[in-house]
Amino acid sequence: MVLPNPADIRVVARVRPQHKNELEKDVIVSTATNDSGATVKISNPKKESETYAFQFSGAYDQTATQQEIYEHEISPTIKSLFNGLDVTIFAYGSTGTGKTHTMRGGKSMADRGMIPRFLSGVYRRARKIVKDSDAATKVEVSLSYYEIYNDKVFDLFESPEDRTAAGLPLRDNGGKTVVVGLTERPCESLKEFETLYDQANVNRSTGATKLNASSSRSHAILRIRVSIITGDTMRSSVASAIDLAGSEDNRRTENRKDRMVESASINKSLFTLAKCVEAISRGDDRIPYRESKMTRILSLGQNNGVTVMILNLAPVRSFHLDTLSSLTFANRTRKI
Ligand code: ADP
Ligand code: MG
Repeated sequence: MVLPNPADIRVVARVRPQHKNELEKDVIVSTATNDSGATVKISNPKKESETYAFQFSGAYDQTATQQEIYEHEISPTIKSLFNGLDVTIFAYGSTGTGKTHTMRGGKSMADRGMIPRFLSGVYRRARKIVKDSDAATKVEVSLSYYEIYNDKVFDLFESPEDRTAAGLPLRDNGGKTVVVGLTERPCESLKEFETLYDQANVNRSTGATKLNASSSRSHAILRIRVSIITGDTMRSSVASAIDLAGSEDNRRTENRKDRMVESASINKSLFTLAKCVEAISRGDDRIPYRESKMTRILSLGQNNGVTVMILNLAPVRSFHLDTLSSLTFANRTRKI
């Protein structure tokens, strides 16, 4: 049921359950999976008989569990990462569609999102490699975690008190873009990860409050570097997992100056992201990743990597403009 894909990119849709205050009669989004692929359908809220259909590499409805999505979409990328490929996983959608739920998830084991499950998978595979190798093979895992807000980069492993207004500068280094001064922390276990990650997410929300903003207006990017060391050779690859800023139609936000600056930078990075995803899907040689800070730091599409985009959708009528614009964004990524 996998659509033919010229480059290694999968775009999958996930429709969240209705909230208690959302009525059954207002549900306008459905999914179907069959031999020809996965389809998301949305009916015209003004004319029920009119339905639009969009094709994806996978589609999940409100009954899909975190475990199911992890197993089908994310778990296979761990093998690629350990084979030396860079992996990029992100959740796209408007605020309230389930991006943070998908990536970070809830506290209970069943609710854990893609990020803690991915780390768990990385440590499991690292242990297996060390166990199975007779030579002195070591696997090292290190993490960076930063957010991009108003086109400025802030280190989430640092206290918001230590932030400078300008954020961290970027520098080009042998064709790669590096964030100057970004903390990279060795992290040896899932337990250690959980402590670091929880603290950093507290930094994310207090940082936003301090700026009188909302964390839904920033992109949060976790970088997981895996290095396999055998004797004096080392091979590293990087996985990036991103909880993007809400993609709601930012042109419609209030006319306040600070909100407009915010919207302009969110629009620019999401638009560039869309262009990159489209170019990668087409197998283009030229990916316009330099056109935004986020895609530039990610070097998106540059290293023959593996990309998984999870498109989060709300099922109900009140979201229909955002849902249509999300579906259209992702639809551009389909090979025609
Ligand atoms: P976003 O990060 O896109 O703004 P959230 O992840 O915060 O959205 O989700 C909005 C609300 O919906 C939260 O209360 C979240 O717990 C709930 N939610 C989202 N997706 C699911 C899901 N698949 N199952 C249960 N609850 C969900
Ligand atoms: Mg969120």
